[in-house]
Amino acid sequence: VLSTMQDVPLLISRILTHGSAIHGSSQVTTWTGEDEPHRRSFAEIGARAARLAHALREDLAVDGDERVATLMWNNAEHVEAYFAIPSMGAVLHTLNLRLPPEQLAWIVNHAADRVVIANGSLLPLLAPLLPHLKTVEHVVVSGPGDRSPLAGAAVRVHEYEDLIAGKPDTYDWPELDERAAAAMCYTSGTTGDPKGVVYSHRSIYLHSMQVNMAQSMGLTDEDTTLVVVPQFHVNAWGLPHATFMTGVNMLMPDRFLQPAPLAAMIEGERPTHAAAVPTIWQGLLAELTAKPRDVSSLTQVTIGGSACPPSLMEAFDALGMRVCHAWGMTETSPLGTIARPPAHAIGTEREFGYRLTQGRFPAGVEARLTGPGGERLRWDGESAGELEVRGNWIAGAYYNGPGAEPLRPDDKFSEDGWLKTGDVGTISPDGFLTLTDRAKDVIKSGGEWISSVELENALMAHPDVAEAAVVAVPDDKWGERPLATVVLREGASTDFAALRTFLAEDGKIAKWQLPERWTVIETVPKTSVGKFDKKVLRRQYADGGLD
Ligand code: ADP
Repeated sequence: VLSTMQDVPLLISRILTHGSAIHGSSQVTTWTGEDEPHRRSFAEIGARAARLAHALREDLAVDGDERVATLMWNNAEHVEAYFAIPSMGAVLHTLNLRLPPEQLAWIVNHAADRVVIANGSLLPLLAPLLPHLKTVEHVVVSGPGDRSPLAGAAVRVHEYEDLIAGKPDTYDWPELDERAAAAMCYTSGTTGDPKGVVYSHRSIYLHSMQVNMAQSMGLTDEDTTLVVVPQFHVNAWGLPHATFMTGVNMLMPDRFLQPAPLAAMIEGERPTHAAAVPTIWQGLLAELTAKPRDVSSLTQVTIGGSACPPSLMEAFDALGMRVCHAWGMTETSPLGTIARPPAHAIGTEREFGYRLTQGRFPAGVEARLTGPGGERLRWDGESAGELEVRGNWIAGAYYNGPGAEPLRPDDKFSEDGWLKTGDVGTISPDGFLTLTDRAKDVIKSGGEWISSVELENALMAHPDVAEAAVVAVPDDKWGERPLATVVLREGASTDFAALRTFLAEDGKIAKWQLPERWTVIETVPKTSVGKFDKKVLRRQYADGGLD
């Protein structure tokens, strides 16, 4: 028997029309680096998204599921593109502006983007790429920045504001198939070519509802979220879509991502929530220590993308900024787990332990652990294996170019269609995930595994250590051993022997896991989304790291 319920497709255009009508007075505030930030209401964003869709359709002839790329910071115009492009039926392709130029060109060609909307400040990056972009016909430029880099380019160049001026404030959004492509994002691809994940209207809609749940980010229209995580990094973790469902105000940093302007933004605009990877928060913490500011409005911080060091969580808690740890990947939209402790642990000494885990699986994400021999492992909090997931917003394949069959590589998808995450960890009986490492970062020493993350967290708890990254280096006797690369705080006087003793104290780290190779570095190399880039370190110390 079929249900008697209406069958209304889950579409991004519905999120847009809802947000711009019901939460019309909520705001997107964009930092400009000048005295006054720029403010735009959800109602205005809705009208301007309609104008943009008209312009793309009528002036640039964007049709069907053509890909429209954005090369933009987090700002109001990028939010407009987020809604206009998928709502009209085209596919939003967010470009990671920190990728090496050759990789960016590869990605644009692979997706066959025909239009690029770019921020003026990013033209020096875009212009030299254009001769290599085979499918791009139009560049639409928005915001401040010299236009001259585009002089002589073999594409048609448009000013965003001119293009949308005079267009109607409403658009007759098409009734699309909810499973149709809405947006795409490429993983940075540590080995081989980058892999494209294509989100559907349905997956984004359901993911947004999850982001809004009280046990996830749980924000309301009384909140303002500082969206530091880039809109090109897995859809800014779903925040632009989720906020339009609930009227949460957004504070967008544009290109001002350094610790000092972030601190000024928090003091000046008083956001209640913020989201970013740990390295951003390490930088902000140092800034706030050097130059205290009033950050009292900011009471919730979502941290994910890499493991949140316990020392960072403690330091933020002490400032009144309560950290909520979450895990996800490009392939998981990204919300995979989020660490809200269960009611029975709140107020007990177990609470902090729960908060340090990667978190609990929400309804909509199923999980299992697979051991080295392919066996299913128990959720006993001890058996460690590779995490596999499936669910409504989890990728089932990778994009393989227009018209081609999607790719399902064996190392990424199980025979029965689950995503193999490449992350190794345990799951407790009550469904909390603890990751010990990425499979490719784990140190395999004499048949035993050493967690690089555990060593890093222990090191970063030392007052003289600003950052620490631990990588496997080849070793004749053990196969691999850990090499600790350490960034010391200014004026620090500690030495390696003292750090080793610190790690061994109170049995924090087992003796056989203690690194015997150490090096001081100026800064840990970072990936395009601000994570420790261990590939670079591994390459640098491929000789074993012994002097
Ligand atoms: P990339 O692979 O380029 O870093 P993603 O942003 O998709 O791109 O990264 C996903 C990976 O980031 C996960 O597979 C996991 O290894 C790591 N990760 C994300 N969140 C966490 C977290 N809270 N703790 C530990 N690792 C995390």
